[in-house]
Amino acid sequence: MEELKKFTKEELKYLSQVYNNPSDNEFLLFHMAKLTEEVGELSEAVLLYIGRGQRKEKLKKFKKENLGDEIADVIIVALQIASTAGIDIQQVLKRKMKKVADRRGSHI
Ligand SMILES: [Mg+2]
Repeated sequence: MEELKKFTKEELKYLSQVYNNPSDNEFLLFHMAKLTEEVGELSEAVLLYIGRGQRKEKLKKFKKENLGDEIADVIIVALQIASTAGIDIQQVLKRKMKKVADRRGSHI
């Protein structure tokens, strides 16, 4: 998790320069637009993974690794949103996992 946090900080520093030092609110909107793009790419990857892509050449070239890459892209942008909003995602994930586990009557 520490490696991810460090990576996210470095990425945000780079993206802040790319977007010309946006305010936090502007930055969040940029991240949301990017997340939407990445979710679209993940949707396409899932379709290709289950053999339902519309373009045969994409189906032929598709590898399971591509699905992993698109999942990673969504997670990376979600982490950028959390960081920009000052949310400690590690703490939130622990809380959410406990909440879900409690709901199911299981323990983590
Ligand atoms: Mg992507």
